[in-house]
Amino acid sequence: MIDVAVVGGGPAGALTAMLLASRGRDVVVLERAPTWRWRACGVFASPASVTALRSIGFGDADLGPVARPVSAMRVETAGGTTFRLTYGGSGSLDDSAVGFDRGALDELFLERARAAGADIRMGVKVDRVDMGGDHARLSTGGNGSEVTARVIVGADGLRSVVARSAGVTRRAPLGPRAALTFHLADTERDRDARMITFPDGYVGIAPVPGDRVNVGIVLGRSWLARLRHEGGVAVAQAICARVLPGAPFERGGLKVLDRVAGVTPLGHAVARRAGNRWLLVGDASGFLDPFTGEGMHRAIVSAELAAATIDEVLAGRGGSRLTEYERAMRSRFGTKDVVSRLVQAFLARPGLFEYAARRLAARERVRETMGLVIGDIVPAARALDPRFLAALLAP
Ligand SMILES: Cc1cc2nc3c(=O)[nH]c(=O)nc-3n(C[C@H](O)[C@H](O)[C@H](O)COP(=O)(O)OP(=O)(O)OC[C@H]3O[C@@H](n4cnc5c(N)ncnc54)[C@H](O)[C@@H]3O)c2cc1C
Repeated sequence: MIDVAVVGGGPAGALTAMLLASRGRDVVVLERAPTWRWRACGVFASPASVTALRSIGFGDADLGPVARPVSAMRVETAGGTTFRLTYGGSGSLDDSAVGFDRGALDELFLERARAAGADIRMGVKVDRVDMGGDHARLSTGGNGSEVTARVIVGADGLRSVVARSAGVTRRAPLGPRAALTFHLADTERDRDARMITFPDGYVGIAPVPGDRVNVGIVLGRSWLARLRHEGGVAVAQAICARVLPGAPFERGGLKVLDRVAGVTPLGHAVARRAGNRWLLVGDASGFLDPFTGEGMHRAIVSAELAAATIDEVLAGRGGSRLTEYERAMRSRFGTKDVVSRLVQAFLARPGLFEYAARRLAARERVRETMGLVIGDIVPAARALDPRFLAALLAP
């Protein structure tokens, strides 16, 4: 029996495995994809993500090739208001937001996990997890093979089989929505990322390495029938033509560099993030929406918190339990979750969002604070301070 089986070899799973293996734990990662392939996932990350990566051993030589500095997030509303959220840094890789090359980044993380001693098994899909008894059992590949482990880490993203097996999956937050994402050639050389809202949806555009931009489109309920009838490529093309008139087109079509990857529903919620023999990291532990961009940051921080808790439990240190992880996650992200839900409440009401956007555009100090909160640079509680809310919302 192994110490830890990690289901999913994305950022959260690979980093959890790396951190545990480097502490001498016996770790196996089971990743269903045989090789890395572009999938529905995000690339834009706040400076806090880069700081978090540095703190677990990734330096300039690692990050330079996989991350492109982004100066600011430019928000452009359907009503024509524009403002820039900055993160208080100089714009260098040390202190700026970044756009990641996810293929290269995910492979770097897996390579580090392997180098630390983790056993990475690609092309192995986990179908079911049995958590009863003295240890957990994972059934893989539909052929009856099993892996047994003292602890299971669910790092298997939005449709987590580990969360489902633990019975903690809840209805996706914010209702039925879908997302599409792909890369285009970077013809603009814009150093800002952009967030452009339109009725019942938005487009995020982030510069990434390799002279490319990543486009992520989030669509609310009113788009879903059209998506079903016309397909993701046609809808992506229609939206790009509407909001990105300069985007690369070819013979009337979008010149997508990889493929239009989609996901629906977009969010994921769980009742708990840990039990006796299992815990959930990254998106598997809950994901609201890319608008406030904390997916990558949370994947990294949750991996750190999970690895520390699992190590304590496996070492049998007095009273340590995996459920400590739940407390650690709540204390780290509870307030930011409230802010993210507040932003979503505004986004869902175009008139209110436009009102707040105009005030953010006109009020520099308020805008600065908002950028620092969204970028995880100052405590999220700053955005819930009544003085901040009054400064934001007062006519
Ligand atoms: C459209 C979209 C846009 C986004 N934009 C942003 C953004 O701008 N900024 C940001 O920070 N975050 C964004 N995110 C979120 C970001 O992609 C995630 O937070 C990040 O990828 C989390 O990593 P993860 O390791 O938890 O999950 P994932 O990256 O999803 O990795 C999960 C892994 O588990 C594997 N897996 C799944 N099921 C099984 C199974 N049964 N057996 C074995 N393996 C399995 C998958 O193949 C995958 O490799 C976005 C997400 C989406 C969908």
